Amino acid sequence: MKNIIIDKKSVGSGNCETRSLNGAGGNQPFKRASRSFRHGEPSEVVVSTPNGSIVFGQNSPLVQVAGPCSVENESMIIETAQQLKTAGAQFLRGGAYKPRTSPYSFQGHGELALDWLAAAREATGLGIITEVMDTADLDQVAAKADIIQVGARNMQNFALLKKVGSQAKPVLLKRGMSATIEEWLMAAEYILAAGNPNVILCERGIRTFDRKYTRNTLDLSVIPVLRSLTHLPIMIDPSHATGKAEYVPTMAVAAIAAGADALMIEVHPNPAKALSDGSQSLTPERYGQLMQDMAAIGGTMGRWPQPYSFSTMGRTTRQPELSPIV
Ligand code: PEP
Ligand code: MN
Repeated sequence: MKNIIIDKKSVGSGNCETRSLNGAGGNQPFKRASRSFRHGEPSEVVVSTPNGSIVFGQNSPLVQVAGPCSVENESMIIETAQQLKTAGAQFLRGGAYKPRTSPYSFQGHGELALDWLAAAREATGLGIITEVMDTADLDQVAAKADIIQVGARNMQNFALLKKVGSQAKPVLLKRGMSATIEEWLMAAEYILAAGNPNVILCERGIRTFDRKYTRNTLDLSVIPVLRSLTHLPIMIDPSHATGKAEYVPTMAVAAIAAGADALMIEVHPNPAKALSDGSQSLTPERYGQLMQDMAAIGGTMGRWPQPYSFSTMGRTTRQPELSPIV
């Protein structure tokens, strides 16, 4: 198998690019991921979907990603995608290859599920985000996904990072459950150094001493911290962070208030029957209601597409005209 060569110019010495990269990254070990690498300008990750180009970035409207933890069958994923589109989401998420703690738990429908995601894309025009766990599956996943997810458990799978960095599809890099911010940015650096500039960071909760009432602890402080350290867009996943559907809406609006660029929320048509992560999944109806709250705070933050209207459960809501905070 071909070895992927990482461009080491940033760490050597003696030429112009080396000096500028070292200057750009300051004393940080991450260079291309550093905010100063783009002279303070946030990057824009532009993803083309059948419904048009969607931009992830600090100066763009919030991007909404939603869907079930696992893609369970074709009609389930298509019907859910239709409801999510009506609610206002731009991307459908759903796992075809699932990282599970137990080898006896549902592992995902693999290639079949990728085809069902493609059918949901075709039916709704939503972009597709799905996880790759193994370098051997990358070509197949990249053929169907608009954004490739690298999950928390693979954040430091360096062979996988190099591989996703050497292909063209944008990458959603979830924070490892015990990863420091620096380790996370170094993982992003692997992808950038391999040649792929389109990386989105996703905070999904970290492990702390207390798991009694929540699955993880949502580290919302990463938003201002990452803003100062990196130009990369920031997504927040309140579903894996809390592990409980009842806490997801509160943390979703908090993430928007803190300045997130995108949200990823698990939604399942029948959470009680979900094959994975049912307890943290919202129903499509609850997601539609949450979208109204997100529109209100998103409008206040100047991060909602304006003017914006959407219908939920038979109601049509138009967001009040609010001026952005400057
Ligand atoms: C997921 O998105 O379903 C998932 C497995 O996420 P994480 O890697 O953050 O646990
Ligand atoms: Mn999940």
